[in-house]
Amino acid sequence: MKDLICIECPNGCNLNIRKEGEQWFVSGYKCPKGKDFAISEMTTPLRSICSTVKTSFQKVPVLPVKASSDIPKDKIFEVMNEINKVIVSEKIGCGDIIIENVLDLGVNIVATSNILV
Ligand code: SF4
Repeated sequence: MKDLICIECPNGCNLNIRKEGEQWFVSGYKCPKGKDFAISEMTTPLRSICSTVKTSFQKVPVLPVKASSDIPKDKIFEVMNEINKVIVSEKIGCGDIIIENVLDLGVNIVATSNILV
């Protein structure tokens, strides 16, 4: 049995999850996302990543980026290491790929700002 707080929306429902055999039992959720979140947390926890990368432009030294979809929680530090290696030297815009298929996770790191263009 484990207690969790759902992070899918600001309500922050208190969830309780337990497993009997192969079946998960979740309580405390106010919508189906909470049940899915609790089971995902116990099996394959995922997280979104928002960060910044360095640029070579003096007036805009950092550019906001994000992962194009959620990544496994246990890969966050490795992905952040890859993000921290990047120095953008082209005038790229929002949605442009900074790192394609980072760590072979099937996720791109993309720019989230037009601050360089
Ligand atoms: S269970 Fe639903 S309502 Fe509650 S925090 Fe999660 S997403 Fe929000």
